Amino acid sequence: MDSRLEAVRDTVLARNPGEKEFHQAVIEVFESLGPVHDRHPEFLEGAVLERLCEPERQIIFRVPWTDDAGRVHVNRGFRVEFNSALGPYKGGLRFHPSVYLGIVKFLGFEQIFKNALTGMPIGGGKGGSDFDPRGRSDAEIMRFCQSFMTELYRHIGEYTDVPAGDIGVGGREIGYLFGQYKRITNRYESGVLTGKGISWGGSLVRPEATGYGTVIFAQEMLKTRGASFDGQRVVVSGSGNVAIHAIAKAQSLGATVVACSDSAGYIVDEAGIDVALLSQIKEVERGRLTDYAARRPGASHVAGGSVWDVTGTVALPCATQNELDGDAAAKLVSNGLIAVAEGANMPSTREAVSVFQDAGILFGPGKAANAGGVATSALEMQQNASRDSWSFEHTEQRLTEIMVGIHDRCAATAEEYGAPGNYVVGANIGGFVKVADAMLAQGLI
Ligand code: NDP
Repeated sequence: MDSRLEAVRDTVLARNPGEKEFHQAVIEVFESLGPVHDRHPEFLEGAVLERLCEPERQIIFRVPWTDDAGRVHVNRGFRVEFNSALGPYKGGLRFHPSVYLGIVKFLGFEQIFKNALTGMPIGGGKGGSDFDPRGRSDAEIMRFCQSFMTELYRHIGEYTDVPAGDIGVGGREIGYLFGQYKRITNRYESGVLTGKGISWGGSLVRPEATGYGTVIFAQEMLKTRGASFDGQRVVVSGSGNVAIHAIAKAQSLGATVVACSDSAGYIVDEAGIDVALLSQIKEVERGRLTDYAARRPGASHVAGGSVWDVTGTVALPCATQNELDGDAAAKLVSNGLIAVAEGANMPSTREAVSVFQDAGILFGPGKAANAGGVATSALEMQQNASRDSWSFEHTEQRLTEIMVGIHDRCAATAEEYGAPGNYVVGANIGGFVKVADAMLAQGLI
């Protein structure tokens, strides 16, 4: 790391004790930024990094709710409004028992750069709760969402902060959240949340966008080596929103996706994952991957273990942070891997990223590769603002153009700063310079 940035890093780490995922995300960005500060001394003089690492606002609140038996539960809600230099705060809500301030801040910090890379007018934020939706009835989910929004509503708005989904928050939850927002405010403010249902202000392609976008980004990386998805053997982690649509898109481009996972294990299906069956089990029945193996001839389920033990030429981690460590990376490389694109946020540990880069593997970091989700959320906001709704083909075309643009900007920036082919450097510098310029232009904020 550039020595001028070390003192800033040390201050950020000391001011935010115990937030290890936030530390990891900050260090990973700082390691790319030395050359930028050679060219832009004004960023140092203006203490841009110090300001960027301190969220503009952090909200932590109590979320009381009752289960179906009438028992009272209390969870903790978060919204971190990190940076609004480029537009209203934008980023998802995560409902998962592992959520605490350090996770929300890592996600919000990453979101600043990701959103800048899309070229859309959106700032960075993130939120969520340590609520565990697993095994809860629809009525319990609804009561939780209503209680969560009863506090959150006063902090958000189409010109202020626009949440969306993430782990544990899909169309069902966005519906309950939107309903409660409307009820409290007496406003049909479509632009306050994205990921809405198609008949009430949502955008076509939003559910598919993150997974599709990740595959489009990977395809652009493969092209730089004269390759494509056609004929690749692909391994995916996760089996939620991002994973399902990444599998569908990769297979539509001629790949065979042979494995995917959830938190209990993974399935191997040498014939290629049956996306319709997977979607029926995970999205409609809210079942487990064991159900897939039971219903699909030739597929097998491995309880526990690591999906990265499965041999593949392309890996798409689409589950959660730090799910792919240095050992798993080394195993993938020795098994013939050529490319990785992160559908999840920070799924590869720093050691894993080093293994990939040292081995010359094409590596697309999440803040670039999974930006298709938030980009399409911004397209949803555009449609809401103009009270319009675009066709699937038009919206998918916009998504494709945006992802190709992000790929090309990352590649060009990496080249410009002396690190050709390094998409981590390209994404970090590309996003940072845009935000830093806007922050300086807007004065000391
Ligand atoms: P979902 O809740 O739809 O799916 C998450 C998947 O990951 C599930 O298969 C889940 O398994 C698995 N998973 C979650 N936590 C863990 C864990 N601790 N260990 C092992 N497996 C786990 O979430 P999404 O698909 O929306 O999100 C996946 C990733 O993509 C996240 O990192 C998210 O931040 C990122 N992302 C999502 C975007 C979106 O538009 N949704 C946009 C950009 C990034 P199980 O069901 O067993 O819990």
